[in-house]
Amino acid sequence: MEILALLREAALTWLPILLLLALVYLMWRAAAAIPRTRAEAVRPDAASSVPWDKVAGLDEAKEELREVVDFLRDPERFERLGARGPKGVLLYGPPGTGKTLLAKAVAHEAGAAFYAQSASSFVEIFGGAGAARIRQLFKAARKNAPAIVFLDELDAVGGQRGTGLNNERDQTLNQLLVEMDGFVASGRVVVIAASNRIDVLDRALLRPGRFDRQIFVAPPDLAGRKAILAVHTRTKPLAADADLELIARQTAGLAGADLENICNEAAIYAGRRHAERIEHRDLDWALERVLTGLASRIAMGDSEKRVVAYHEAGHALVAHLNGRSDGLHRITIVPRGEALGYVLDLPEIDRHISTRDELVAEVMMLLGGRAAEEVVFGSVSNAAGSDLERVTELTRLMVFDWGMGETVTSRTIRATDYALSEETKRMRDAEQARIADRAYARAVDHVAENRDALDRIVTALLASETLDRAEIVELLRDVPMGTAASGAIGAVRARRGNPASGRSAHRPRASW
Ligand code: ADP
Ligand code: MG
Ligand code: ZN
Repeated sequence: MEILALLREAALTWLPILLLLALVYLMWRAAAAIPRTRAEAVRPDAASSVPWDKVAGLDEAKEELREVVDFLRDPERFERLGARGPKGVLLYGPPGTGKTLLAKAVAHEAGAAFYAQSASSFVEIFGGAGAARIRQLFKAARKNAPAIVFLDELDAVGGQRGTGLNNERDQTLNQLLVEMDGFVASGRVVVIAASNRIDVLDRALLRPGRFDRQIFVAPPDLAGRKAILAVHTRTKPLAADADLELIARQTAGLAGADLENICNEAAIYAGRRHAERIEHRDLDWALERVLTGLASRIAMGDSEKRVVAYHEAGHALVAHLNGRSDGLHRITIVPRGEALGYVLDLPEIDRHISTRDELVAEVMMLLGGRAAEEVVFGSVSNAAGSDLERVTELTRLMVFDWGMGETVTSRTIRATDYALSEETKRMRDAEQARIADRAYARAVDHVAENRDALDRIVTALLASETLDRAEIVELLRDVPMGTAASGAIGAVRARRGNPASGRSAHRPRASW
């Protein structure tokens, strides 16, 4: 009795204290689990050892960045002369062209710490955390100077402010501007930002003392592609027949990341064959794979195969009739990726401008598949879905951006121009439709007039499923190659286009 009462009393006094202690312990544990966001916790990116010579091509960009490297290495040399160091460098250009790679190479070459952060990660956090993160990043970098602060996808926070749509983003951007203005350009901390587009960035970012050095990182030209392929096969055993030069010629418009991907896929494919070396057929296979995706297991019935064969043959025939068959690399009705069949078009030229005639020829080629279906079957299928999307995009650019309509020939009429009248919009849309409809009518005529050649291609396709260049040339031997794409006199010169957008009518790709 006595003992029980004692126990009860003890429990009543001690239990709450024990519970309290347990609670304190749990809270302490929970707090420790929250990632530390103090500056000391921001660590440089260790995986940043990219030697300078692993960045291939991009000679101009490298030359410009050389200056940044020199400043980081030996700021006194310049300070003595009263020179102000670079503070912010913006690398802009299409995805996969080596912007991240360049930033890392600068850090490596200068022996600087590398602090990387993707600006898109700020957009998901709230309550001023993005701004705090920027503060910490700069604090850590200054402490560890020489250092590079690398901000990837700058457009995620650096878009034009004041839309009131994203307050968090504005706060982050403001903090970035404060940080950049707050330190003297001493060459000890340099901010490198990357973006796919420069046109959407807030002007305030590009002012002197901020990202005032802007370097366009272009998709590689022929020499650049060769160099990139060489870098990424340096440690891979190549067979004597592996022709990197040919792959480089067939990949105009592809970015470095695609080329790296091709080299890697080729090695995997050779490995699957248990080969000792990478042969050209591995590279060729990899190129096709990168352009079209994985082989798929879709099984087609005979009647479907016939539709697909005519569709693909129509693309090829219309391309040929427009003088665009030099790049016809392969036609196949073996499904791959989302395509049931496709035409692999690898024009071996680096083009920067296209004439109106060439673009119209491109639209015709895109519509050649549907045209063949209509001529042969009297009805059309949904096989042309992606063709039509590309036609819409291309004709939109022609009329909206490049002044290639019939009445709209000397100005742009962008979709983003608020002031467009209803009348202008109607006229603009009619122009776009006219280009596409005319091209389609001509494609139908082309196909109808060359029905023999079309049937020949289809028969061969149904027999062997895949036709390579030599076979295509043979089948089209007596069909005169057209000249539309060679550029008629007085052709409208397409403006250079926004190079960063990577749009071009002449890219290697598969049309299906
Ligand atoms: P971006 O940042 O411009 O999108 P990345 O720098 O991330 O492109 O490039 C992705 C990958 O592509 C790199 O890791 C590299 O393997 C390859 N690559 C791209 N450009 C080049 C180049 N100029 N030289 C060598 N490799 C390149
Ligand atoms: Mg990148
Ligand atoms: Zn098609």
